[in-house]
Amino acid sequence: MEENANEPLARYTTLRIGGEADHLFQPHNVEELVSLVTRLEQKDEPWYVLGGGSNLLISSAGVKGNVIRTAQMTEIKQITADTIDALAGVRLPHLAKHAAGLSLSGLEFSVGIPGTIGGAVVMNAGAHSSCMADIVESVIIFDSKENKLITLNRKELSFTYRKSKIDIATQVVVSARLKLHPGNKADIEARTKANEEYRLKTQPIGFPNAGSTFVNPEPKRSAGFLLEQAGAKGLTCGQAAVSALHANFVINLGTATSKDVTDLLQRMQECVYNAFTIKLHPEWKILGEFSQNELTPWQASSHPVH
Ligand SMILES: Cc1cc2nc3c(=O)[nH]c(=O)nc-3n(C[C@H](O)[C@H](O)[C@H](O)COP(=O)(O)OP(=O)(O)OC[C@H]3O[C@@H](n4cnc5c(N)ncnc54)[C@H](O)[C@@H]3O)c2cc1C
Repeated sequence: MEENANEPLARYTTLRIGGEADHLFQPHNVEELVSLVTRLEQKDEPWYVLGGGSNLLISSAGVKGNVIRTAQMTEIKQITADTIDALAGVRLPHLAKHAAGLSLSGLEFSVGIPGTIGGAVVMNAGAHSSCMADIVESVIIFDSKENKLITLNRKELSFTYRKSKIDIATQVVVSARLKLHPGNKADIEARTKANEEYRLKTQPIGFPNAGSTFVNPEPKRSAGFLLEQAGAKGLTCGQAAVSALHANFVINLGTATSKDVTDLLQRMQECVYNAFTIKLHPEWKILGEFSQNELTPWQASSHPVH
């Protein structure tokens, strides 16, 4: 297992923002992960899980404590004709293409989501009218309170829009079992490619970003639509800007800090509130040392933060 002290975290996030973690651990397999969490719990040391860092704002002031990055746990196993097990660190775009290569359908929606399976289960990631809840049969978690591996089935995970029942403060997603559907390989590959190409056209992939910033307040009124109508496109705070391509995407113009981003999120919320009296709630999780003022966008959020 790799272990680094005072490790800058920006490089592990898609926004390219984040100060140093006291310690960064990168387990390669389940045994390393379980013994690490057990050891940290025994010493009563704080720990936080980082997956692909694609739905996360990490403070530029850094993270006191231990960050466990699961992105190097990348084993995939085909269990039956239609069932795949993937460790927490497997990236969705890779898994979607892998499944297509096995003539298995169900993951086409996920090819443009740059997170890991662990993060995708926690967030019930979704796109193109599908989400993880449609394909997850069960998930193995390590529960640090009970100090054991536990299997949760789809029902027990209580998936809702961009949420699951996983408690990120005490539970780590170790792996997921996905139930897919055998199909025609060429058709599955064509759908996967079409979804990938659509993303390239509609999202600002040229700049560091963390995907959608705010959750949709209502199914029929997306956060992106409200932000665009309210005139948020082009707003900037320091080196953070609202993308001109997609109003619900915040981009890092180069050297943005977490403060630039939290200031911008507040302005985006104000913009929509002033136009529609609707309070937008961030989809992103946060990690690290934030001042109270920086946390304003997450206050009264229905989505729990670290
Ligand atoms: C360009 C772009 C496009 C995107 N498009 C979409 C989209 O279409 N749909 C969508 O839903 N999302 C989208 N996202 C957001 C993001 O990719 C998803 O939310 C993804 O599921 C996050 O996974 P991650 O591994 O990066 O999680 P991280 O960002 O690393 O973490 C997110 C949260 O999950 C927790 N976590 C991560 N791994 C584990 C684990 N193994 N065990 C316990 N907790 C864990 C973290 O502690 C954190 O609280 C997009 C992001 C980008 C940058």
